[in-house]
This record gives sequence, structure tokens and C-alpha cells, in this order.
Amino acid sequence: MFEKMTIEDCLNYNREELITQSYERIRSIDPVIKGFITVVEKPQINDGPYRGIPIAIKDNIATKGIKTTCASKILENYVPPYDATCVKRLKDYGFVILGKTNMDEFAMGSSTERSAFFATRNPWDTDCVPGGSSGGSAAVVASGQVVAALGSDTGGSVRQPASFCGVVGFKPTYGLVSRYGLIAFASSLDQVGPITKSVRDAALMMEIIAGKDPFDSTTVSRKIDFLSQIEEDIHGMKFAVPKEVYEYEQLDGEVAERFEEVIRTAQKLGAMVERVKIPSMKYAVATYYVIAPAEASSNLARYDGVKYGLRIEETGLRDMYMKTRNAGFGEEVRRRIVLGTFTLSAAYYEAYFNKALKVRKIIANDINQVLDKFDAILTPTSPIPAFKVGSISDPLTYYLMDIFTVPANLVGIPAISIPFGFVRNKPIGLQIMGKRFDDGKVLRIARNFEKTSPYNDNGRIRLPVVRI
Ligand code: GLN
Repeated sequence: MFEKMTIEDCLNYNREELITQSYERIRSIDPVIKGFITVVEKPQINDGPYRGIPIAIKDNIATKGIKTTCASKILENYVPPYDATCVKRLKDYGFVILGKTNMDEFAMGSSTERSAFFATRNPWDTDCVPGGSSGGSAAVVASGQVVAALGSDTGGSVRQPASFCGVVGFKPTYGLVSRYGLIAFASSLDQVGPITKSVRDAALMMEIIAGKDPFDSTTVSRKIDFLSQIEEDIHGMKFAVPKEVYEYEQLDGEVAERFEEVIRTAQKLGAMVERVKIPSMKYAVATYYVIAPAEASSNLARYDGVKYGLRIEETGLRDMYMKTRNAGFGEEVRRRIVLGTFTLSAAYYEAYFNKALKVRKIIANDINQVLDKFDAILTPTSPIPAFKVGSISDPLTYYLMDIFTVPANLVGIPAISIPFGFVRNKPIGLQIMGKRFDDGKVLRIARNFEKTSPYNDNGRIRLPVVRI
């Protein structure tokens, strides 16, 4: 049963078989799921402890000699001459990259419908989106095409698709994983993270990809132990549940019910749960949607038709820029560039961008204060389960869904989404946020929930049967 195998399962399996099985699965399933933008024809196979284990990489992470499009027309034919640090490390350990996964263009979105190429489908219900922006990565892992994948998370893009597809998605503490080779969206928020079929696999990948990198000065040299305490229990731990979760209008009633079961499970595990007020949390979406577009508008200035990427020939530099950027960027990306340029302009900088930075500080102080008293904060990952492709068009409704995931990026803390039950036959996720550098503890808490969740089979998460 290749499709259900975790990285750890692969270690005791005939490695030569793995790649063949992965390709077979991609060939039969991906025409329906559409998770891959590129499938690698001749993969590079290195020696190492994880030799032959097939994985996929989100298409905004640079892979040497393999097209890296960011799901954008502006980078449609871009082939990086180097590997992102996280990719290089995985390759050095023997992992084999079989393909690059679909995403919302430049990681701006929550559904993978905003890819410039095509929409990816949710393996649990192919009428629905897989979440986003790392929807391709979550979908190919959930549908068992590869064993694990990397995504990127600026405001929830690893956790929310993991929750929609019923797999594990981990966003590490900011600075633990190098961003070298990750195509920048909002640099103060971006982190690469694993999408896997078990919490242990997420920890295992973190052991490999985390660490100081001379190519990214925001990486820290602190050594984090992700794996060795993961099986320890959580007796006596204290969890906070923000009261704001229940006050949120768009919270689906059944998601709320499942979340009550989370609280009962926590108590069964010997932990204490307390409801706390974190009033500034309700400003997180507004703050994020000022800061992220501002940073994006600056980061995306480099795609001008001159240096690399698409160029639409035109007489005169200004016209060439305009034509290139108009043809190369999709609607959502252009919306964010306009938003960001506006909030950074001399007339509005104080009123918007600077204000947002101040609110970011307040949110960070409030959340850090709670985490000084509690071991973790629990919320649903998303207020709703996966929705139908094409059903949400209003940008504001779409942005508001990010309510529970953006705080962790604004504060720079670790957060994981693990499957916790189903709503109308679609998986939903539990989010666990911890203190900065408490990544090991977050994974350990997640592992305890994974083991005892009434929705899992003997401590293993349930995976979908894809109908083709
Ligand atoms: N949904 C959020 C956005 O659209 C988060 C995206 C991300 O984490 N890359 O910006």
C-alpha cells in the first residue's frame, strides 16, 4: 500500500520499488487531482539514509535544473541554476524529488484556484479545493502520490491545505528553516514547512531542513530537538483556547462541535484547558493584509522583463515594463501589488503600514503573554472545511478565512495543523501554536493528539480513497 506509507514506513521497504510505485500512482491519480505542475522525468537519486524516498516540492522553491514557476506566467519557463537550501539538504539525505506542485500564484491565496495554470482538486472530494496556497503539495501527499512534500507558509499556506486534505502541516518558528531559494512573497512572514502523513514524519523532515544557513541571515543557529521527546506524554500541560474562536461569525457550527471534542481529548490526555481572551487576535487578518501585500509589492518589483522571466517586447522601457507585468501577473497578484504600493506610499505610510507594524507588536505581545502561562494555544486551523471550486469569489470573504492561521506568522511562532475529524465528509484540522523555539513541544503535543484522536486508525491518520 504505497499510497499510505509514511517516511518511516519507507525505511523498512524495498527502496528500489518506491520510485516506480510513486510514478504509477502519479500517472493514474494526478490527471484527476492535478497536483503537479511539473513531474520530473529523470530524477536525481543520491545516497543517504532516506535514499529513494519520493517527495514533492512546492513550485515556489528553487530546484536546480527543474522548472520553478511559482504558478505564474511571469516565471513560466524559469529553470533555477541552484537548489534552495532546504531542497539541497533533503537531496543530501537521499530524498528524491519527483515533481513540483501547484499553488496559488506567488503563494497568494487559500485554494490553489489562483494558479495561473489550473486548479488542483481535493482528494477527499474532487469538486472541492485542496486549500492553499500549498494545495498541490497537500493534495499529492493525501492522495498518496508521494510520501511527503514541502510547502511554504506566509499566513497559513502549509497548515490550511493540510487541514483541507487531512494531512499534517507544520510551520516552524521563523528563522529555523532557510528561505534561501524560496521565492519571496512577504519576507518577514515566509517559512518553509513539511506536509506529511504523520507528525513523526514532520519532525523527521524538520531535523533535516532546519539550521543556520550562511545564505539567509535571518536563520538562527539554535539547535532544536524535534524528534527525541515526541513520544512523551502531555500530562499536566496547560492549553489556552482563545474565546475569540467562538465569537468568529464565519465559524462553521460543525467545526465548532469537533473542536469541543479536541478539548475533551486534551483532558483525557491529562492536560488542562482554559478559555482565555486574546482581544487583539481579531485584528490579525487586517494587519496581515497590510503587511503581506506591502512586502510583496517590494519583492515582486524584480519581475520587470529585464533580468529574467517573461518579457513582452515593446518600444520604450516603461511600456515594456507595463506590458510584461500586466501579462505576467494574475489578478490577485496585481491586486496585492496595488494594495502594497498604496500602503507604502508617502501619503499613506503612517496611516497604514506603520500602524500595521504597531498592531503586529501588540498581537505578538498578547500571544506571547498567553504562551508564557500556557504550553500551547489551540484553535481550529480553518473556520470551515474545504469548499467547492469556484464558490468564493469575493476577496474579503476569502481573506477572512485566514483568521486562525495568520497570527502565528505575525508573531513568528511554530504552529501545526493535524487532522481532527470530519465535517460533512471532509477533513478538518486542529491547530497547535507554541512559544518561539518550542517546535519540539508543539510536535510532541500534536503526536499525542494523533495517537488518541477518535478519528484516526490506531494512531495513524486516515487517508482518502481517490475515486478515478
Ligand atoms: N492565504 C494567505 C494569503 O493569501 C496565506 C498565503 C500563504 O501563507 N502563502 O496571503
